[in-house]
Amino acid sequence: MLVGMLSEDQAAHMQPVILDHLPSRLLQHPATALARHLDGPTLIHLPGRKPNPLFVSVLQHGNEVSGWDAVRRLLSGRYQRDPLPRSMTLFIGNIDAAAAGRRYLPDQPDMNRCWPGSRHPETPWHGMLASVRDHARALKPFASIDIHNNTGENPHYAAVNRIDPRALNLASRFSRTVVYFTEPAGVQSAAFAEFCPSVTLECGPPGKRSGTDHAMAYLENALNLDQLSDQLPHPEDIDLFQVTTVVRVPDELTFLFGESGPDVDIRFEARLDRLNFTELPPGTRLARATRNGAMLRAFDTDGQDRTDAWFRVTDGELVMQRSGMPAMLTTEVEAVRQDCLCYLMERMRLLHRGEREYAQPKLPESAP
Ligand SMILES: [Zn+2]
Repeated sequence: MLVGMLSEDQAAHMQPVILDHLPSRLLQHPATALARHLDGPTLIHLPGRKPNPLFVSVLQHGNEVSGWDAVRRLLSGRYQRDPLPRSMTLFIGNIDAAAAGRRYLPDQPDMNRCWPGSRHPETPWHGMLASVRDHARALKPFASIDIHNNTGENPHYAAVNRIDPRALNLASRFSRTVVYFTEPAGVQSAAFAEFCPSVTLECGPPGKRSGTDHAMAYLENALNLDQLSDQLPHPEDIDLFQVTTVVRVPDELTFLFGESGPDVDIRFEARLDRLNFTELPPGTRLARATRNGAMLRAFDTDGQDRTDAWFRVTDGELVMQRSGMPAMLTTEVEAVRQDCLCYLMERMRLLHRGEREYAQPKLPESAP
C-alpha cells in the first residue's frame, strides 16, 4: 500500500484490516510473503481464556522479522489445539516493506514514528495507526509488546517510555538491561503506555535464531501471566538506562572507520560498535581527530548542545569527557550521515519513595 499512489480520497480512508481469526495457513508464510495474503496493515483478535488481550506488534519495520517468526512458531505449536491462556491482539505492520526486505519503502514514512504523539507531518498512516490504537484501547489490553531487530553489535534489550512499575517489570522479564527513552516521539510503545504497560523489544540482528527464540519464550511467558507487580523491580534485578543524548558528526567533517583509506578529519576505531552497551569511563578513546578542531556534536533530548560535557580532544585523541553508555553505534558511514553516530545513555537509580521520585538519572555533574 503505497501512500504516494493513493488518491486523496483513498488516503483519507486508509484503515487497518481487522480480523477475528487467523487467515488459514497464514502462519506458514515468511514475512516476505505476507503482502500476498493480507490487504495491508492488519489487526487480528484471537480469543483466549483471559479476556484482556496481550497486544503484540510485529513488522512495523519490514526487515525486522524476529517478531513475526516468534508469533508463527508460538501459534503453530500447541495453541493450534489448546486455547490461548489469554486473548491476543496481533498487529502485523508494514507488509509491503517486508516483501521488499526493507525497513520501509522509499515513499513511505517510518511506521514507528506515526503513532499518536508523533511530531512528524501528518500522513494517512497517522490516521490508520490512531485507529489501531483506538481499537486496541477499547479491548483494555493487559500489556503491549512491540518486537524489533537492530544492526551492529547490541545485546537483546527491552525499552520503556515511562517509569512505571508494571512496565518496568514487563521489561525486566525480557532482559536485565532496560532502556528508558522519550525520543523519538510517535512510537507505538509510547502511544500504548498511555493505557497499559508497554515495552519495545530489541532482539538483535534479524534472521538470527536466538532473537526469535528469545521473543517466542517471552511471548509465551507473557501470555501466561496473571498480573504484573505494581512494585518497582528490585535494583539488583534491573540495569536501567536513560537515553539522554544523541551524537552526530557535523556535515562539514569527513570521517572513516578504521585505519585504511584517504585522509579524513575524524578516524574512528574500526569496530566502534563493539562498545554498544558498555559503560565507558572518562578518557575512553573513540577516534583520532586528525584535523585541528574536528569534534563530534552531542545534543540532549531538548536539543541543547552538550558537546563540551561529553567529549574532548587530547593530543589528537577524541575521548569521552564523562562516563556514558552508547547504544545503536554503527560503523556504516551512510547511516551516520542520515541519522546519527549513536545515542548515549546514563544509568538511572530507582527510588522507592514517592511516586514522583520513581527514578532519576545520575546527576549530570559536568553538564554545562
Ligand atoms: Zn525497528
